[in-house]
Amino acid sequence: LKDKKTLLINARLSPEPKACRNCGSTVWDGEGKQIIVKNGTKASTIRFAPYNHVPTVMKLKKQKYVCKNCQSYSTADASFVKENCFIAEPVKLEIIDLLSKTISYTLISNLCSVSINTVIRTLRSLEVYLPKTKGDALLPEVLMVDEFRSHAPHEDKMSFICADGESGQLVDVLPNKRHDKLEKYFKNYSQKSLDNVKFLVTDMNA
Ligand SMILES: [Zn+2]
Repeated sequence: LKDKKTLLINARLSPEPKACRNCGSTVWDGEGKQIIVKNGTKASTIRFAPYNHVPTVMKLKKQKYVCKNCQSYSTADASFVKENCFIAEPVKLEIIDLLSKTISYTLISNLCSVSINTVIRTLRSLEVYLPKTKGDALLPEVLMVDEFRSHAPHEDKMSFICADGESGQLVDVLPNKRHDKLEKYFKNYSQKSLDNVKFLVTDMNA
């Protein structure tokens, strides 16, 4: 593949049709006529983790379906890859794992046989999990706080995490749990935001 020795897997994914996601029509109607029918395939190329150090790529033909009731088209879902994505999910998890190590993007891209752009894109995809900007943001009514061992080399042994006790949504992670640092941090929030906290859940000492 592109002048590179690559293990190619030719595969076809063609599960039986399911009810229409657009109009809700069942596969068969009351008179035994098939409403959701197979209709050609969609070819995609999916990058997998290297096998025996050989880059591995799957040429996958996914079944397409058409609903005769509403004329909408759909394509079979593969569990190992997100729609319109060309990197298998296990590879993304591997990239994320390697991103937590002190190694370069280049090394990660070599180890996973993906481009550096893919490594950066995978990193950026994690942005949605970061806490939203502070300042005007209200702290949650139930604020749970805890300490944890961060393993980050340049930081204190114990870090601090706080989250919304009802939704589980992350509020923030701080590099250390020292009292003076925490006080300084929470003073950055407005009085209105602090007043929003009704319950503090913690097992930390004074
Ligand atoms: Zn339909």
